[in-house]
Amino acid sequence: MKHLLTSKKISPLLVIIMTGTIGILLVIAGTAGFIVFQGRFLDRVEKQQQTYFNLVDFRDKVIDFGEKSRGKSGPEKAREKEVLQFMHDRLAVEIGDACPRQDELFPIPSNDNSELLSLQMQTAIDEVRAESRSAAEQLVFFNQIFLFIILGLLLSLNIGAGWLLHYNYRLTLIPLAQLAQRLKRVNRDIPESIHDTAEEMKKELNETMHSPDITQITQSIMSFCGDIEAKNKKLDEIFITDEKTGLFNYRHFKEHLIIDVERAKRFRTSVTIAMIDIDHFKRYNDANGHIAGDRVLEILAGIIRKQSRSSDIPSRFGGEEFAILFPNTDTHTAREISDRLRKIISAEPFPHEDDQPTGELTVSIGIATFPDDAPDWYTLINNADRALYEAKAKGRNNVVAFHELGTKLSPLQ
Ligand code: GH3
Ligand code: MG
Ligand code: MG
Repeated sequence: MKHLLTSKKISPLLVIIMTGTIGILLVIAGTAGFIVFQGRFLDRVEKQQQTYFNLVDFRDKVIDFGEKSRGKSGPEKAREKEVLQFMHDRLAVEIGDACPRQDELFPIPSNDNSELLSLQMQTAIDEVRAESRSAAEQLVFFNQIFLFIILGLLLSLNIGAGWLLHYNYRLTLIPLAQLAQRLKRVNRDIPESIHDTAEEMKKELNETMHSPDITQITQSIMSFCGDIEAKNKKLDEIFITDEKTGLFNYRHFKEHLIIDVERAKRFRTSVTIAMIDIDHFKRYNDANGHIAGDRVLEILAGIIRKQSRSSDIPSRFGGEEFAILFPNTDTHTAREISDRLRKIISAEPFPHEDDQPTGELTVSIGIATFPDDAPDWYTLINNADRALYEAKAKGRNNVVAFHELGTKLSPLQ
């Protein structure tokens, strides 16, 4: 039964309607049948009783005839006997109709011995009375049986309906209330709780039994949560990614820089950033067009991503400038990575790079380290920019660390 209810084919409501309808039809059909049966039975009982009374009546007449006929003349007696014979014949038909079994018991008034006849009649009367009484008792018995059947049917219908209601309550209403609670939470805490809520729903769906409707609703909400989660993830990615190069954008770089500077302050470690700028890129664009320039930005982004460690934050700072955040890294290490990067870019065969002043596409890199070169995150960016400016001044395709500037500080300070 449980399987039948939880399978998708039959809903509990349909079961209630079906069993209720069948039960009511059974009661109606049973009652109608019983009324017809009872009517016929009553007819029989009535006939038997009537026969009984007629028999008693006839017996009285026989006795009366016996007494009266004593001393009467032949023709007069014969007439009375004729009347008696007529009554007997009529009664014989009646008794055959009402009590077929008593047919043979009913004596035929053949001689004048009315006493014997009345005695024989008494036997028939007793039999008819017994049969009529037994029929009446049978009728009472059938009535009782019918009542019991109807009561049993109503009781089982009641129990069935109650059980289904309870089942429905447990499988539908309770899970529905829990679902509503969860959705309330999802509404309040989006997007953090989406994942947890979907997981909880999945667990509950596997562990407890639900009605098919609730299972379907829960599965829809789970898939809806899954969609939202996937879209949130995508949005998160878009939010921190530079569309053209696929590197992190300035927003993400800045957020990380602020956090890493705070962490470095707390744990007395270093944070280094490198500002990377393409040399003579305006010229490249002018000579080859912006689409070719964009292609160079993509190739460069690929190299920068590849050369960065998983803990680094390689980003597009803006325009044709890139920035790498090296958390928990000193100037020396960052300089080594930057130098390697510069050399790899210089060695990369970019399309149309022959037109560049040096015959190859190169970058200049300026680096600065917190806390040695700057007391906060924005001064750190400014000072890396100054080092970059110096790298350009030194003839480009160069890496300069801020501390190397010494007293030669740019007018920005
Ligand atoms: P320098 O060596 O001094 O850096 O010279 P430069 O020509 O690279 O410097 P400048 O700032 O004069 O020019 C930067 C150029 O970068 C200007 C612009 O056309 C180009 N640029 C900035 N953003 C993009 C971009 O998204 N796509 C392309 N194709 N070019 C860009
Ligand atoms: Mg520039
Ligand atoms: Mg440039």
